[in-house]
Amino acid sequence: MRKLITVLAGIAAVLTSIDASAAVKVITTTEDLAALVSEIGGNKVTVESLAKGYQDPHFVEAKPSFIIKLHSADLLVVVGRELEIAWLPPLITQSRNGAIQPGGAGYLDASQTVRILDIPTGQITRAMGDVHPSGNPHYWLDPNNGRLMAKAIQNKLSDMSRADAAYFAQRYDDFDKRLAAAEQRWKAAMAPYKGLKVVTYHRSWPNFADAFGLDVIGYVEPKPGIPPSPAHTLDLQQEMKAKNVKILLVEPYFDLKTPNAISRDTGAKVLVMLPSVGGVKDVTSYIQLFDYDINLLVSTIKQTGTK
Ligand SMILES: [Zn+2]
Repeated sequence: MRKLITVLAGIAAVLTSIDASAAVKVITTTEDLAALVSEIGGNKVTVESLAKGYQDPHFVEAKPSFIIKLHSADLLVVVGRELEIAWLPPLITQSRNGAIQPGGAGYLDASQTVRILDIPTGQITRAMGDVHPSGNPHYWLDPNNGRLMAKAIQNKLSDMSRADAAYFAQRYDDFDKRLAAAEQRWKAAMAPYKGLKVVTYHRSWPNFADAFGLDVIGYVEPKPGIPPSPAHTLDLQQEMKAKNVKILLVEPYFDLKTPNAISRDTGAKVLVMLPSVGGVKDVTSYIQLFDYDINLLVSTIKQTGTK
């Protein structure tokens, strides 16, 4: 630990010697956030994500290098809604960076200005599984929430670097236009399948389903964050057969054993959908993420002949 502190002190000394007009140094928890920061920040920021897009964002292995990155960050952008609660808070504390502490000038919780689903009513108990008390944290999978997140990033960067506010505003407008054109394309591609019943592994897709007209009738996890159980899997298979569900969406970080067994029993197609930018190498932007998922979904729906 003493060695780490010495390293940190050394890094801090180097940092203070760098030109003050240098780019805003942004660290994000996820690659989706990093992609949106790049859209808005352009060459006025440097940005790096702690988690990779193919990792489960609830459970990221905390590395010492994360502390060093956080120590020298000007801005930390988080998903919030307790998505990162299992790994991020101690890293923020250990970073010894006052600016990026929750509520600090260099801290942005991207969930504050978006539409949040699944906000629990009534009391939350352990029996409910890993339920997020402040609502579903997978909100970035609705393009309109992506737009609102980009706006919040624009506002924050403009506060931090006033001289570049016009630059950030112009980049936001450009992103907004490209996103609107893409949304029309995605909605048109999904329009014939409105109300299509699907099952998903984790509760990652309520915003996506809402945006594109899917009906999620069940989950492979018996409760959020709880691994599949034989009894629940049997019930789910019966329901899928009764409702003729032919699509099963799985996030890339879950074991395919149970989904494949469900597929054999029900004839449903297992489809590894990406919840995040960076889920595969070629998906490097927010718009590419939806392009990838919607292309995959539409081509799989056509194969199943459900509609
Ligand atoms: Zn979750």
